[in-house]
Amino acid sequence: MALYCPWEHITCNSCNKVITTMTRITCVECDNFDLCLECFSQGKEIGKHKNNHNYRVIPSLHFPLLSSDWGADEELMLLEAIEQKGLDNWPEVENFVKTKTAKECRSHYYDYYLNSKTHPLPDLEESFLKKNGIVEMKPSRIVHFKDDEFDSRPQKETGCTQPTYEGYDASFNPYRKEFAFEYFNNAELSICNIAFTDKDTPEEREIKFHKLEEYYKMYCERVRIRNIVINQELVDPKKLRIADRKRSKEEKEIHDLNCQFLVALGKEDFEKYIKALVEEGKLKTKIRNLKQKRRDGCLTLQESKSRRKVNNYNYTSELKSVSYTKPSKHPH
Ligand SMILES: [Zn+2]
Ligand SMILES: [Zn+2]
Repeated sequence: MALYCPWEHITCNSCNKVITTMTRITCVECDNFDLCLECFSQGKEIGKHKNNHNYRVIPSLHFPLLSSDWGADEELMLLEAIEQKGLDNWPEVENFVKTKTAKECRSHYYDYYLNSKTHPLPDLEESFLKKNGIVEMKPSRIVHFKDDEFDSRPQKETGCTQPTYEGYDASFNPYRKEFAFEYFNNAELSICNIAFTDKDTPEEREIKFHKLEEYYKMYCERVRIRNIVINQELVDPKKLRIADRKRSKEEKEIHDLNCQFLVALGKEDFEKYIKALVEEGKLKTKIRNLKQKRRDGCLTLQESKSRRKVNNYNYTSELKSVSYTKPSKHPH
């Protein structure tokens, strides 16, 4: 029997796909604005919605299961947390579940598991889902990002499952200007468990501040590197290949040898610099040739040009005479 579902009408605001039971993205700045994952990853902007708006990921399991205020995903997290951290270790359980406080975790576990008719299992006959079907959860936690910063939370290593964008490197999302794997990708791990409490000794506090300072340095470096890569247009391999093909062999060599100056000079000045180096190389070769001509006895440019013609003529006539005389060298 299909479950009653009062919000079956939830569709993607961009492509109109029904996304009721799928993981979806809800904009927290626009009213009733949902996107499917495809449209979200393409940075779709519709009406007032812009792709840098704060958002919440609504997982497919985020519907009330036992009570109206706990999602099925949170129930799973709670059980996992208790198994890993131990029963009654509520502060640790809170850290694990993340969306509920230690007190909420404790009372929920006691009310719906330990004190249920079917303890220690929850009473599914009395569950919220059984009585109401799948309904939408009230928001329990909203993640905010600043406009000029990107989501810098540690990302799960997902290997090659990242979507690819035509002409772009697989790990860069040009529509959201984000990398799947950031520079110092795991930097947040060093600070994720830091908490300041009143019981901290001055030494403990100093260590914590030091850790935060170290993290901030890594974060700044990450932003710097990301801006370089984006501003110097190094994220589009197609463009890079085309630019590469336009260069002569000498130009390419000089370009590759000096690419470390790109960061300091910026794209435009760097191109000028490379052009100047190529020009310098050409002039040096010309000067070398003229010096050689001088040693050969030429006193004017005109003379050197006519000398070259004579030399070429001599060379070709010499070749002709060699080939002409060839047969006589091998008589029968
Ligand atoms: Zn869509
Ligand atoms: Zn929006």
